[in-house]
Amino acid sequence: MIRDCGWNPWHGCTKISEGCRHCYVYRFDSRYGKDSREVTKTAAFSLPIQRKKNGDYKIPSGRLVYTCFSSDFFLDKADAWRPAAWEMMRIREDLHFLFITKRIDRIALCLPDDWGKGYPNVTIGCTVENQQMCDYRLPYFLQAPIAHKIIVCEPLLSSITLPSCKGVEQVIAGGESGYNARPCHYEWLLHLRAQCAEQNIGFHFKQTGALFIKDGHAYHIPRHEQISQAHKAGIDL
Ligand code: SF4
Repeated sequence: MIRDCGWNPWHGCTKISEGCRHCYVYRFDSRYGKDSREVTKTAAFSLPIQRKKNGDYKIPSGRLVYTCFSSDFFLDKADAWRPAAWEMMRIREDLHFLFITKRIDRIALCLPDDWGKGYPNVTIGCTVENQQMCDYRLPYFLQAPIAHKIIVCEPLLSSITLPSCKGVEQVIAGGESGYNARPCHYEWLLHLRAQCAEQNIGFHFKQTGALFIKDGHAYHIPRHEQISQAHKAGIDL
């Protein structure tokens, strides 16, 4: 069985849009009195090429590697470190890297020289939390050379009408978690799903979020049920 793992080359970020308002990185850091706006390279920076004593890579071949989950891979403060991160992805072509960004408008400034039509072992997810960000970010995303593209509507904050999303493999959607979570409406999800069906794109309802609105009722859903409740809806494509 191929298991997933994580690689967090740098930590810290700056809020740039509505989807960042309740960013879990800030929430987590605040518990330790840490300023999330300070961006630092982590001790795990070189994890993909680190080896065990017996010479094997610490991350075994074939894994899906969730990359940069407490920052944004295209963050400007990480410009100096990104070339080395790309290099590690190039070396570990036996792994598949996936990262999600709210800064797809920086992609042209961030790609390595040998990127071509996109490294085949890298999936990039473009976050689109509302219609405004859909209209702003997707034109950059859809025209960018990326081998594997997904759209991440999480936290979903409004109904979204997508443009033609040729080349996109999947749309992932879900509500917002945590205290003060903003509502996610079931009909917004169904609207996205219908568009995915029409465009022959995969759709995954990942989690309900903490405040879910369905048929005019507001449901407060505990954290441990948010994924299972979404699964029960049975609306994945
Ligand atoms: S881009 Fe992501 S990591 Fe950065 S502040 Fe926004 S939600 Fe947090």
